[in-house]
Amino acid sequence: MQGELQKEKAERARVEEELKKETQKSASLDQKLNLAWENQRALTDEVERQKGVGQENEDLKKEIARLKAQVAEKEETVVDLATELGRSKVKVDSLTKYKNMMKKETWIEDHESSNCQKCQKVFSVALRRHHCRNCGGLFCYYCSNNRMQLPVSATPVRVCDNCYTFLLTRYSAD
Ligand SMILES: [Zn+2]
Ligand SMILES: [Zn+2]
Repeated sequence: MQGELQKEKAERARVEEELKKETQKSASLDQKLNLAWENQRALTDEVERQKGVGQENEDLKKEIARLKAQVAEKEETVVDLATELGRSKVKVDSLTKYKNMMKKETWIEDHESSNCQKCQKVFSVALRRHHCRNCGGLFCYYCSNNRMQLPVSATPVRVCDNCYTFLLTRYSAD
């Protein structure tokens, strides 16, 4: 039981850490994207300016072609960065939701409860306590014997009977 709680704490710390990293990544991508945009705009302006200066000059024509190629290249960079930024933002979003969910639900520490929250049976060596991964409450095996795939978990996790019923009706309503 203690080990399980430790694991949950570690998981929370891991999510916090990952969220921090993703947020930083997102911010730096944002910066890079802005820079790439500016760069691209400057080049486009330059192309336009050169065009106006002299259509006849061969050197200028070559220069314009070169600049245009650069603009196209920058455009690709902008698209790549935008895609990566979008992906990073989605990740930050889902991590934030996960983090908030974990924070919102009151995780009952093992020693805070000596009875199953549903049937009130007293926990013992024979009747071990289990955390519901949805509401964070402590339940006996019999009152938390369901597993469900929560939006944040890759594999089905233990949920209490109350949450199981609630989540079932909610998911089937979708
Ligand atoms: Zn129970
Ligand atoms: Zn529950």
